[in-house]
Amino acid sequence: MTANTALLQIHSSQTWKEQLQDAIRTPSALASAVGLTLEQLPYSKDADDSFSLLVPRAFAQRMEKGNAKDPLLRQVLAASGETLKVEGFNDDPVAETSLYADTPGVIRKYHGRALLIATGQCAVNCRYCFRRAYPYTDNVQSSKERLAAIDQLLEDSDIGELILSGGDPLLLTDAKLAAIAERLRQSDRQITLRIHTRLPIVIPDRVTDQLIDALRPKEQPVVVVVHSNHPAEIDNSTAQALSRLRSEGVTVLNQSVMLRGVNDSAEILGQLSDRLFAAGTMPYYIHMLDPVSGSAHFEVLESQARQILGQLAAMRPGYLVPKLAVEVPGASSKREIAPDYFE
Ligand SMILES: *Cc1c(COP(=O)(O)O)cnc(C)c1O
Ligand code: SF4
Repeated sequence: MTANTALLQIHSSQTWKEQLQDAIRTPSALASAVGLTLEQLPYSKDADDSFSLLVPRAFAQRMEKGNAKDPLLRQVLAASGETLKVEGFNDDPVAETSLYADTPGVIRKYHGRALLIATGQCAVNCRYCFRRAYPYTDNVQSSKERLAAIDQLLEDSDIGELILSGGDPLLLTDAKLAAIAERLRQSDRQITLRIHTRLPIVIPDRVTDQLIDALRPKEQPVVVVVHSNHPAEIDNSTAQALSRLRSEGVTVLNQSVMLRGVNDSAEILGQLSDRLFAAGTMPYYIHMLDPVSGSAHFEVLESQARQILGQLAAMRPGYLVPKLAVEVPGASSKREIAPDYFE
């Protein structure tokens, strides 16, 4: 048995909660997981202090050994680029905290949909995350408050969809998720439950029988929007988790963020779409980076992003081309950006 298969077996024998406990939290552990020394990485302690490093081993295993520029590593390493102050980058780039915070934990920004911040915790800390500076502690509800907020939202006949976001809502226990899903099923209207999560990507073992039982996707519409950015994130275990959701009746979509040095290429995005599709998952959005402090080194210019999407549209069927979108503070929906089609 090679060292690698030994590792894989250790992780598949751990529950998802054990994998979360056992996640990599130190730069030296991350360096050794990719077969490098800390000195070979652009690690920054200041960046780590402001947003702590957190990487599940199941995700780190998919990084290329010996590659300091690995696109998965780049998404999670607390790096020196984050400490630069760059004009236009700030702590509340989509103005969520200032504009939409009448009930703590509830964001009602778009017609027909309400978004609930289900938890502030994540299973992985993505360095480009627009909520890296979000004041979660002021905005996370107890279970009781959460269910009361849902009941109140459902009284509004405009609401047809409840979106659980975070943080990562699949960090909630199955019992808490079951209580939320149950509340929606009790409504006299059909309410879609949508879950925005990175867990099936970073810890595929999160997709268990108990989770399916909690959500009961054969009895009500359930949409799971996963978040992956690069084809190497979709290994066999991820593909199995996504396919499982799909076969249980969940509509599975993916959203990505356009990131310099990770997926700023039509070839990479095409491969990502192929792997997602093979796992029953449709590309939905690719977002422009929200200009949160510390993320400037990930920025891709809009003109370049439009060209990349134009190239992708020429290479794949339309249903494998995600919509390029940007969050505009105060707008009534996300703004779609047209690809730059070349003649
Ligand atoms: C993105 C987003 C939604 C959902 O938008 P869709 O276009 O329906 O995917 C809802 N609420 C908030 C706050 C969002 O940022
Ligand atoms: S909210 Fe999503 S993108 Fe942000 S750190 Fe958590 S998992 Fe990553």
